[in-house]
Amino acid sequence: MTQRLIGLTGGIGTGKTTVSNYLADKYQLPILDADVYAREAVDIDSPILQNISARYGDDILFPDGSLNRKKLGEIIFNNSDERRWLEQQIHPFVRQRFTETIEKLPPDSTAVLVVPLLFEANLTDIVTEIWVVYCFPEKQLERIMKRDRITLEQAQARINSQMSLEEKKQKADVVIDNTSTLENLFKQVDLAINRDYF
Ligand code: ATP
Repeated sequence: MTQRLIGLTGGIGTGKTTVSNYLADKYQLPILDADVYAREAVDIDSPILQNISARYGDDILFPDGSLNRKKLGEIIFNNSDERRWLEQQIHPFVRQRFTETIEKLPPDSTAVLVVPLLFEANLTDIVTEIWVVYCFPEKQLERIMKRDRITLEQAQARINSQMSLEEKKQKADVVIDNTSTLENLFKQVDLAINRDYF
């Protein structure tokens, strides 16, 4: 018996959370979330947060010692060297948390790993299949502008900071198209989970 480990990825706002909530509700699958581990990596008093404050000064922290994410975001958004440095701190931690959690799952279980940066963080080797949640660029922009209450320019800048969705699509085992209704989306998820790949 082998584990079935589904790596769920896509672009910003293409529908990863919508799909993982559906898989949890309808199929009771365990959901492992890279964003949760990435937040844990920089918890108050964590070694990584200490490295961050040693590099950027205590100004990067709030008075209670927790990370000021907005400030850190401003540093790394326009500086790729600093972004790489930060990723080298966080990615190994996230990988480690995934592997130790997977080891505790039964040997024949199916689990969903939600990993927005699956390709960028080179985490493809920890999953057994890759699903990319895709939607048309216009829809993606519209949904994140609405959800995050940001302008078209801000939404475009966020999308541009990631690997292109077209490139992710090429690397997928399964492409789930979330351009239209939720009903249509869930139908594709049902097919994919039953391995009726389309
Ligand atoms: P992020 O990576 O930014 O966290 P995500 O990939 O998890 O985003 P979701 O949060 O699932 O994306 O979806 C983005 C937004 O679009 C949400 O507000 C969600 O409710 C909405 N949405 C998702 N799919 C559809 C759909 N088929 N029709 C209408 N709205 C949708």
